[in-house]
Amino acid sequence: MSLVLVTGGSGFIAAHCILQLLAAGHEVRTTVRNLAREADVRAMLKAGGAEPGPRLSFVAADLMADDGWAEAARGCDYALHVASPIPPGVPKDENELIVPARDGALRLLRAARDAGVKRVVLTSSFAAIGYGHKVRQKPFDETDWTRLDGDDLSPYTKSKAIAERAAWDFIAREGGALELATVNPVGVLGPVLGPDYSASIMIVKGLMDGAMPGCPKLGFGLVDVRDVADLHLRAMTDPAAKGERFLAISGDVVWMRDVALLLKARMGKAAAKVPTRQLPNWLVFIAALRMPEVKVLLPELGKEKHATGEKAMRLLGWKPRPWEQSAVDTAESLIALEA
Ligand code: NAP
Repeated sequence: MSLVLVTGGSGFIAAHCILQLLAAGHEVRTTVRNLAREADVRAMLKAGGAEPGPRLSFVAADLMADDGWAEAARGCDYALHVASPIPPGVPKDENELIVPARDGALRLLRAARDAGVKRVVLTSSFAAIGYGHKVRQKPFDETDWTRLDGDDLSPYTKSKAIAERAAWDFIAREGGALELATVNPVGVLGPVLGPDYSASIMIVKGLMDGAMPGCPKLGFGLVDVRDVADLHLRAMTDPAAKGERFLAISGDVVWMRDVALLLKARMGKAAAKVPTRQLPNWLVFIAALRMPEVKVLLPELGKEKHATGEKAMRLLGWKPRPWEQSAVDTAESLIALEA
C-alpha cells in the first residue's frame, strides 16, 4: 500500500478523496493552511465513516508560500493536488485566484518531482475546457482547452485554465520522471461532510433556502463528489491515465429548474422554499446590477454546453451515478448537518 499526499484536506473533494484512499488501504498525508484545522478534517472524515488515527498525518502548507511543500511530498508515492481557491463570490482582483492556483500547482509539482513521487493527479476543472468558445452542439471533451481571450471567463475560470496549462508545461519542460494526469469535473454535488460548504453546494443550498425568487436559465453539468474521488484514485494508478486529462460529468446539461423540480418532488416538506418558476433573463440582468456574484453568471444564461465523460468510462472503467441521486444526497446531507 502507498503513502498518498492529498493537498487541502479541509476541502469537500479532498475529504472524499481521503476517505476513499483510506478505504483502499493507503496511508494519507494531507496539507492544510493551518494545523489548527486538523480537528475539522478529522470530524469531516468521521462524518464520512472513517477514524484513521495515525494512518492520516498533517503538514502545514499554503499555496502562496514555499514552506512545507518539500516536507509534505517527502516519501510519498503519489499526490492528489486538490487545493485551489474556489470562492462563492468574485474577487476584485483576478490574481487573488490565479496566483495561488498556478503558483501553488507549480510548488506542489516541483516538490513532488524532487521527492520522487510517481504521479500527481491535479484536480483541474471543466473551467479549463469549456470557456471562451463559440456556442456549439458538439460535446466538449478532453481535446478542448478554454480560450483565455473569451468574454465568458470569470477570475475562477481563468485561474483553473492557467493553472492546468502551467502544470502540463512544467511536466514537459522540467518534470523529469514525474507523471501527471488531470481530473476536470463539472459542478460537483454529493454528501457534504462539514459546515464549510464548497461553492458548488450552493446550487442545492440556494434552492433549498429559497434564496432566489425563481430559477435563472442556467445549464451546467453535474457529477457526484464520490465519483470524482473515485476517478482521482483510478487516474492515480492506472497506467492508461499517464499524461491524460479526464472530464468528469454524469450525463449531460442539467438546467437549474430541473434541479429545483427534482428537489420539490423528492424532498417533501424540506423543499417547501424551493422555487420552480423560471426567471426571465431580464430579471437576472437587473439583479446583476447590484450583485457581482450574479453578474458573473450573465454570459452563461441560456447557454447549453454539452460535455462527455466517455473517455474516463472507456479508459478507466469509471461509472458515475445519475446526477439526480447526487442532488438528493446533497440536500439530505445539508439537512442532517443543519439539524
Ligand atoms: P473547497 O471545499 O472550497 O476546497 C478548496 C480547498 O482549497 C480547501 O481545502 C482550501 O483550504 C484550499 N485552499 C484554498 N486556497 C488555498 C491556499 N492559498 N493555500 C492552501 N490551500 C488553499 O472546494 P472543492 O469543491 O473541494 O474544490 C477542490 C478542487 O476541485 C479545487 O481545485 C476546485 O477548483 C476543483 N473543482 C471543484 C468543482 C466544484 O464544483 N466544487 C468543480 C471542478 C473543479 P481552506 O479550507 O484553508 O480554505
